[in-house]
Amino acid sequence: MVGGDAAGMSAASQARRRRSPSQLEIIAFERSGWVSYSACGEPYHVAGYIDPLERLVARTPAAFAEMAIEAHTRHEVREIDLDARTVTVENLREGQTSTTPFDILMIGTGATSFKPSIAGMDLPGVHELRTLDDAKQLRAIVDAGPGNAVIVGGGYIGLEAAEAFHHRGWQVTVVTAGASVLDRTLDTDMSGRVIESMEAIGIRVVTETKVRCINGSEHVVSVGCEGGEILPADVVVLGLGSRPVAELAADAGIDLGPTGAIAVDDHQRTSAEGVFSAGDCAETMHRVTGRPVNYHLGTIANKTGRVAGINIGGGDIAFPGVLGTAITKICQTEVASTGLRRAEAEEAGIDAVEATATGTTTAGYWPDATTMRIKAVAERGTGRLLGAQVVGGPGAAKRIDVFATAIWNDMSARDLAWTDLAYAPPFSGVWDLIHIAARKVADAAS
Ligand code: FAD
Repeated sequence: MVGGDAAGMSAASQARRRRSPSQLEIIAFERSGWVSYSACGEPYHVAGYIDPLERLVARTPAAFAEMAIEAHTRHEVREIDLDARTVTVENLREGQTSTTPFDILMIGTGATSFKPSIAGMDLPGVHELRTLDDAKQLRAIVDAGPGNAVIVGGGYIGLEAAEAFHHRGWQVTVVTAGASVLDRTLDTDMSGRVIESMEAIGIRVVTETKVRCINGSEHVVSVGCEGGEILPADVVVLGLGSRPVAELAADAGIDLGPTGAIAVDDHQRTSAEGVFSAGDCAETMHRVTGRPVNYHLGTIANKTGRVAGINIGGGDIAFPGVLGTAITKICQTEVASTGLRRAEAEEAGIDAVEATATGTTTAGYWPDATTMRIKAVAERGTGRLLGAQVVGGPGAAKRIDVFATAIWNDMSARDLAWTDLAYAPPFSGVWDLIHIAARKVADAAS
């Protein structure tokens, strides 16, 4: 196993369940100091919601040893030799390099944060939020504050970092080159509500603005934006998206797909005999378009790792594909999306319509009712559901799972509009906003 997090260690565990140590020796090499950790929990450790950091680690190397899985931390795989069937590994603690033979290889090298080449990027005080080490450093900074935090990028990780600093009393500015935040998954009429809610609690959002430079001599002091504005900054967090770590595989001659991630079939097999790949570094198939995609989501990494492990262990299982369902929150505002946006559907050659519905998370008269908006996308003519987006107060976002289930099962919007969903005033209106959005998009599609 190259890479010891969600994909790699899911694969290791599943392979071990099917093959005993006498049938299969399993060795995992992990560059960082941890295996099987939850990157998803990192922003919440930075915020101080979850302590200690070690609670984000599901299993230690000692726990894997009890399953007869050897997990070596601070070991980086430098090269894969497909002819010799070996990997070259550097022990980062001792600086020694050795080779390890393999019959079967599983590549779960994950993704890395995108770092633009602008001046000041390497100054102390400029951080990514990817590894547990990053989370530890950012938490120490948060604890030493408050001050001014500039978050560069308006994706999920950027917004979760913004919440962490805001929660601890920092002045937070999010700067994004996009027209809005979360613009890879939400349309601007939906994400505009996210910006409104952020600004309402005092987080400044600067859109359509690129960061030109990061200033400081010994430590970051400010961020220079195109257009001339200088934002004071005691810390800068980069949230500019991520890229699959596929160079190691590509250098070995393993095929990459059109997304730049490792190409795999539905059994997670790469182009090289006996070599599997799963997680953020590998492509998956979008169930609606049938096209290869490369999403960086823990849900997909765990599932594809499991499929790889079952097949490595002698099973025969196909991964059924993804919808890219994602969810997050920034303070009291919840956000989620699944499937295709209308523009994505049309780009994939599907004639699509959309409809939005606005309502409340609970019965309108319930004391905690908050506003919620749902956009649904369906195919013109058939009414087949293609995608949905949700923005709203507490209780809003998990409604996306109903849409994901409906899209997964090729349901029409009309069917969803009549589905027997649960109701009581603390949970929804008697017609949930899901019903109303589905009915509206069914009407638009017909
Ligand atoms: P990774 O978790 O990236 O693990 C790959 C591992 O391989 C790394 O530990 C790396 O050190 C190691 N590695 C790489 N190259 C080598 C090498 N040559 N030799 C040895 N080791 C190597 N997803 C969600 O679904 N929901 C969320 O709420 C969510 N929140 C997130 C929040 C943050 C801050 C981050 C960073 C990610 C979040 N994600 C979330 C994404 C999710 O964490 C990833 O999709 C998931 O961790 C991918 O698992 P993976 O095993 O494919 O890759």
